[in-house]
Amino acid sequence: MPRIRIATGCHPHNAKHYDDALEAALRERLADPRVCAVGEIGLDYHYDFSPRDDQRQAFRRQVRLAKECGLPVVLHVREAHDEAFSLMQEEGFPEAGTLLHCFNLDWATLEPWVEAGCHVAFGGPLTFKKADEVREAASKVPLDRLLTETDAPYMTPEPMRGMVCGPDHVLFTAERLAEVRGCAPGPKRAAFLRQLLANARELLDRDPTPWQQEAAREFYAEAFDELFAKPGVPYRSRSARHEEARAGAGEAGYARAVPGREGMSRDDVKERGQG
Ligand SMILES: [Zn+2]
Repeated sequence: MPRIRIATGCHPHNAKHYDDALEAALRERLADPRVCAVGEIGLDYHYDFSPRDDQRQAFRRQVRLAKECGLPVVLHVREAHDEAFSLMQEEGFPEAGTLLHCFNLDWATLEPWVEAGCHVAFGGPLTFKKADEVREAASKVPLDRLLTETDAPYMTPEPMRGMVCGPDHVLFTAERLAEVRGCAPGPKRAAFLRQLLANARELLDRDPTPWQQEAAREFYAEAFDELFAKPGVPYRSRSARHEEARAGAGEAGYARAVPGREGMSRDDVKERGQG
């Protein structure tokens, strides 16, 4: 599935299981070129499914791992924003980026994260009737660091609450976010939505990092040729391939540029439900 991007990591709920063996398994998965982030990692003091010391330890170790791999982190933080922020300051925010996922609190809580250069993703809670403080926070995030998300199967946005949340429901969240940002239907809204997509691609649709390319040699020796090493053809992200195909070479280029679709036209691809 070449269009999938994966964040992988040990969620704070499972932090009590984080040990050397788990970290070794995680490293191996991070070498997969589809992996674009380490996450969700963080602190969850609402459920406390793992002891807090274990949560802190797993969080720290994975921030270090992400930095070693050159990948961004996707953070799950619940009732622990101050402490999570201090921990990130101590460890240092990864150069590749930090995404605060499913943010549903106020601007006072969010401001230091934004000041530190983080990206922020808003999900269903942005649409909830009583969530004015979330909408206020969303109105203040710099445009190029704003993302939407589903958090499926949870957090179904208005007006679909009561259903199981699915990826398509992100439409309702994006729509509400556009309203919050004062982007009226029409060209202004279209440009805003394109910007949201560009932000997500910029942060997450990334080419394999040098660490991933090196580690893939070790972990995926047999599959390596297929993953990376077609002679003279460096691995490029899906969006890069699509952009090239669109910009340059028409239908033939499109089929050539997307592995596994050689000889197919764009319409063929659509018909097979892969486009
Ligand atoms: Zn989460």
